[in-house]
Amino acid sequence: MNFYPLPVARLIDEFSRLPGIGPKTAQRLAFHVLNVDIEQAERLAEAIVNAKKGIKYCSVCGNLTDVDPCSICRNEARDKNTICVVQEPRDVIAMEKIREFKGIYHVLHGAISPLGGVGPDDIRIKELLPRITPEVKEVIIATNPNVEGEATAMYIARLLKPLGVKVTRIAHGIPVGGDIEYADEVTLSKALEGRREI
Ligand SMILES: [Zn+2]
Repeated sequence: MNFYPLPVARLIDEFSRLPGIGPKTAQRLAFHVLNVDIEQAERLAEAIVNAKKGIKYCSVCGNLTDVDPCSICRNEARDKNTICVVQEPRDVIAMEKIREFKGIYHVLHGAISPLGGVGPDDIRIKELLPRITPEVKEVIIATNPNVEGEATAMYIARLLKPLGVKVTRIAHGIPVGGDIEYADEVTLSKALEGRREI
């Protein structure tokens, strides 16, 4: 990086910290920024800072939001008695895209992974329990169909069983080892439709 003037080296360094960006791409992005006019560069910088400053986690469901509670939790038309449990905020986006789920969400921010050192207390499982009021009819577990996602689903199902609430798991239309977030809309829609009680 010594070949570059310091501000350019810094820019390349920052880009290379982004997920999926190798040194070559970081360099290309940096040169792209240097080529655009100052207004565009400022818009990019501002968008990054504003997103970071203005976005927080919903105190109810844990989803990303600029207002608390989030627009889904505040929406009167949503069925508050059906809760869909997902691993990440991006999974909420995937579910919302299929436009079939009318309930609300609970975002865990991770999955149980004994090998990765992630236990039940490291994700938002304890925050789920107080949400299971007697009115709640169904908890749909839409964690990823891999080892961690299954372990998490089983753990939550066991935890919720004594509360007498119906717990379902989305079907395996999604390839095993795949991610909810990358499932196409038809697959995810079928997986939701074919959910079964666990
Ligand atoms: Zn929310």
